[in-house]
Amino acid sequence: MLLNRIDEVRAEVKKWKTEGLKVGLVPTMGALHEGHLSLIKKAKAECDKVVVSVFVNPIQFGPSEDFDKYPRTLDADTKLCDSEGVDIVFAPTPAEMYGTNSNENENSKLERLSNDILTYVCPPFFYVNKLCGKSRVGHFDGVCTVVMKLFNIVQPDLAFFGQKDAQQVIIIKKMVKDLNIPIQIIQCPIVREKSGLALSSRNKYLSEEGKKDALVLNQILNNIKMCYNKGITNVEALKETAYTYLTNKHELDYLEILDKDSLEEKKEADENSIALIACKVDGVRLIDNITFGGF
Ligand code: AMP
Repeated sequence: MLLNRIDEVRAEVKKWKTEGLKVGLVPTMGALHEGHLSLIKKAKAECDKVVVSVFVNPIQFGPSEDFDKYPRTLDADTKLCDSEGVDIVFAPTPAEMYGTNSNENENSKLERLSNDILTYVCPPFFYVNKLCGKSRVGHFDGVCTVVMKLFNIVQPDLAFFGQKDAQQVIIIKKMVKDLNIPIQIIQCPIVREKSGLALSSRNKYLSEEGKKDALVLNQILNNIKMCYNKGITNVEALKETAYTYLTNKHELDYLEILDKDSLEEKKEADENSIALIACKVDGVRLIDNITFGGF
């Protein structure tokens, strides 16, 4: 069932709750692929009812980012969700989510969505002043705000997030802990193409050649883990190994090896470490990560 309105979703979920059913939420921005499907399948396996939200959230995009051109494929997404037995696809408009006046043009609506007038949920600086948060200032404020809103609208028992966006799921877990949100966060492994490329809606922007060049992210991460497994633990030495893979086709944003729960820097890697990379390939910013011991 495709619903666009908050009150419709609330009414439906309320019925489920009175029946004592377990509700799962899978937040997405749509353009669904096998990565999203793995979250949906997990939610179906663990919950009685599943809500998938499809919402390209304007407040998590910077002014020069791809909000306008982000792929929007709601018909296909809804069909896919139906075939997986999803109970509700919740696809609100920005106006429905943020209460903007529908007479305003889209740009002025978005400009007004600043924290001058909108209540934001802002994760701790320590978690956002690194990795994607460094180049995407305000991104995680937008993510936490929309996720908090979705949590309040759907009131799920469980919510499903992918390790693909590792910093995001770590920050969401921190938000849930710090704000005593009674929702269990389930973290799901990264789904990859056979080639090793992590699935992402943004892969649609890549040319065939770009797709090949993009394999470098996974290669760098696999090599770092292989070196770690061979006994190299010095973080700087592990990071150094990446440079043999990078060419002028790759614009490295960051490569970090951090603690997978606290995002603290370490001098020596251990089983709790995670290597995270962001790199622009073919004009497309891609991210990937690998844990040393598992999540
Ligand atoms: P997005 O639509 O990109 O906001 O992603 C929605 C959810 O799907 C997030 O929790 C992502 O981490 C997750 N996700 C995206 N790509 C993958 C993937 N390749 N493997 C596993 N989860 C993914």
